[in-house]
Amino acid sequence: MGTGTPVIHDVVGIGFGPSNLSLATALEEHSANVPEHPLTAAFFERQPSFGWHRNMLLPSTTMQVSFLKDLATFRNPSSRFSFVSYLHASDRLANFANTHTFFPTRQEFHQYLEWVEANFTDHVSYNSEVTGIALPPDATPGPDQYLQIEVRDRGGSGTRLVNARNVTVSTGLVPHMPVGVDSDDRVWHSSEFLDRFRQMDPHALKRVAVVGAGQSAAEIARFLYDSLHHAQVFAIVPSYGYSIADSTPFANKVFDPDAVDDYYFGTNRTRDAFWQYHKNTNYSVVDDDVIRDLHRRVYDEDVSGSRRMHFLNLSRVSDVKRAGNETRVSLESLLDTDSQDLDVDILVCATGYDSMDPSGLLGDLDRYCLRDTSGRHQVGRDYRLVTVPPLSCGIYLQGGTEHTHGLTSSLLSNIAVRSGEIADSIAQRRAVDEPGAA
Ligand SMILES: Cc1cc2nc3c(=O)[nH]c(=O)nc-3n(C[C@H](O)[C@H](O)[C@H](O)COP(=O)(O)OP(=O)(O)OC[C@H]3O[C@@H](n4cnc5c(N)ncnc54)[C@H](O)[C@@H]3O)c2cc1C
Repeated sequence: MGTGTPVIHDVVGIGFGPSNLSLATALEEHSANVPEHPLTAAFFERQPSFGWHRNMLLPSTTMQVSFLKDLATFRNPSSRFSFVSYLHASDRLANFANTHTFFPTRQEFHQYLEWVEANFTDHVSYNSEVTGIALPPDATPGPDQYLQIEVRDRGGSGTRLVNARNVTVSTGLVPHMPVGVDSDDRVWHSSEFLDRFRQMDPHALKRVAVVGAGQSAAEIARFLYDSLHHAQVFAIVPSYGYSIADSTPFANKVFDPDAVDDYYFGTNRTRDAFWQYHKNTNYSVVDDDVIRDLHRRVYDEDVSGSRRMHFLNLSRVSDVKRAGNETRVSLESLLDTDSQDLDVDILVCATGYDSMDPSGLLGDLDRYCLRDTSGRHQVGRDYRLVTVPPLSCGIYLQGGTEHTHGLTSSLLSNIAVRSGEIADSIAQRRAVDEPGAA
């Protein structure tokens, strides 16, 4: 390439969580199979280093997905990036087998992800936030078209433009706070939990509250109860009690790779059935062992006659007032018209996440991306946004496709297969543009 010719990557990946890390492995394996036409990639991640939900790496928390659903195995069972390869490299394969579990701790899975990531340090830039995607001013549709990706250096050295024929938007879920509640140094979303908790003097935390009915809420309630022996812990749940996550074998099939086709090519009735019958596999539900753990603690308190774990069920947060270190939480009962105020030292909102929405990054380009009658992006089976001229580059989504591809959109279950499908789509489209480059 001569001086002045811009470098154009085949793919720029926005975000470097498990989805784009899995894509990196798929691209690497593709390039190993077709060495004469490697696919070039660069990834940008706004965190200072690799991290997967670090603020929720609570002691003893386990994965909610089988270790076989790692970054690569379902796409390529002989991949060197599998969890089994990691165990082997760490000299723990035999001892892991002795644990008789499919569900490693999140700590161990995080180490696995870091082990894979170490292979791609040359391809990823940290502290690098993508702030927008655009076409160059006089872009015309066709094989020569490329996108300009604006990357802001969070270390303070300004912004730069990076060029690519395709982008994969994999920016993850967006924390959701209760309506009207803002986070600050005493009111936290669960996604900030450990960082914030470590900054506190634990002895100063005498009354703590967690709001939410899902896995994170239950895990945080258990953690606070076990870590703060002197504290009163309030679990505010809108339901009557925590509900169990259905992980039984027939229901779990909704996370199989085949289910994506059934969902994608199904009718609206098919898709409604998925949500109606199987929402309880993932949303606002808690693993059986965590529920039993918490219940054990409450029962032990019944026996001992001393109470510091308080369940405020059928309750919703209607208001939070903050003054200095004081936090007053107003609760509305769903049982009657009663309301009560609760004074706490910290309030943790484990109130879930909104799904990924690429609109902010797309900016002006969004008008070339088709939407369905409900205003949602149209997405091809290959996870590529459906676009119209002048936009002909590929914009792929890893996340934000619940409406088209179903329940696995924001989960780990299908990322090995999904990233393989995206890598294949990029390679096949390039082969059409440049015959011979499959
Ligand atoms: C506590 C917790 C536990 C979970 N456990 C499981 C589980 O056991 N099994 C399961 O299937 N799912 C689980 N999930 C669901 C979760 O979505 C997936 O585990 C996984 O994180 C999805 O990977 P991702 O790469 O798509 O998104 P993320 O892991 O969220 O990664 C997105 C990355 O993009 C970066 N980013 C965002 N915007 C930009 C930008 N503009 N520029 C540059 N970088 C950006 C973020 O910093 C982040 O690192 C869990 C979720 C949580 C919150």
